[in-house]
Amino acid sequence: MVSRCRCAFVPTSVLDRFAVDLTLSETLRQAFQDTAQHASGWRSQRTSISPAARHAKAKPQGANPSLRPEILIFDSRHSSTLPGNHIAIADPYQEETAHRIHQNIQSILLFYKSIFNRNSVDNNGMGIFTSIHYGNSYCNAYWNGSQMVIGDGDGEIFTDFAFSDDVLVHELTHGVTQYTLGLGFTGEPGALNESLSDIFSAVYRQWRLRQSSQLADWTIGSTVLGQSARKMGYTCLRSLSEPDSPTSLMRLPGHMRDWDPNGDPHINSGIPSQAFYRAAMQVGGNTWDRVALIWYSAMANGRRQPNMTFAEFASATITRASALFRSNAAVPKSIENSWRHVGVI
Ligand SMILES: [Zn+2]
Repeated sequence: MVSRCRCAFVPTSVLDRFAVDLTLSETLRQAFQDTAQHASGWRSQRTSISPAARHAKAKPQGANPSLRPEILIFDSRHSSTLPGNHIAIADPYQEETAHRIHQNIQSILLFYKSIFNRNSVDNNGMGIFTSIHYGNSYCNAYWNGSQMVIGDGDGEIFTDFAFSDDVLVHELTHGVTQYTLGLGFTGEPGALNESLSDIFSAVYRQWRLRQSSQLADWTIGSTVLGQSARKMGYTCLRSLSEPDSPTSLMRLPGHMRDWDPNGDPHINSGIPSQAFYRAAMQVGGNTWDRVALIWYSAMANGRRQPNMTFAEFASATITRASALFRSNAAVPKSIENSWRHVGVI
């Protein structure tokens, strides 16, 4: 299954902004121009099946659901070749980036397995293939329908994308969405697609740090911002708790009245993400114990719904909340209130 997704972590609008920012050096501006232009290239590149995808597809469905997914890391060696050369990670000192990313992917797969009983992105033990050192100062990361592709960043605005859990969970969750709802990439389904990736990214960090919803910072991309971005006053790429925060690189709507009809799906993702945040805060405790389970259950309902609207997803979460928490009516009520608050229902 090769999807025509636009699953990059940093949307073109942010890349374009830095590409013309005269306070940055020419080299830096060029890196952003190259990354933005590259987006059109990889959209067509995705249509050809990479060796990694062929390997993944060769695995028979239902082969062994308990099998540990294979994690392979490749080196693109600053080219746009995919997947690139396989890196053996036996010696962590030889290739620190590959070793770290391998460990982080293992931890993310464990999160999906232990909390949601999901075995890899396809729930069938699919191998996870990742190409690192992609392009030159490439300021992005993406899921191309069959593997992750990770850039090194420019080092000033964005640091190495390989070292950010937020990036990895966001991109792998695009894979999970691909194999569950199969959401599209524009309009409400597209915004929902981006929102799910941000939500599970935030929940993963909370789970890893054993942080309650109240203690979490609810930001996305804070760990990939470099010193220059921080000097400009930015602390993250997106915020789920404060969609319009001036310290986020992207200011998002948090209510349907602010839906941007021409907006990139990353922008409009602020609306369903705000509903999730409000539900998590109202229900309280650990987000992964209840509210994330409800969202996952609505997502992995066994049916592909590429055109799913916000309201349809909201309705699915309320139904699933009632089914999962039959003895606690406050939970589905909180979910319903949160969708109402953002104007979706
Ligand atoms: Zn995305």
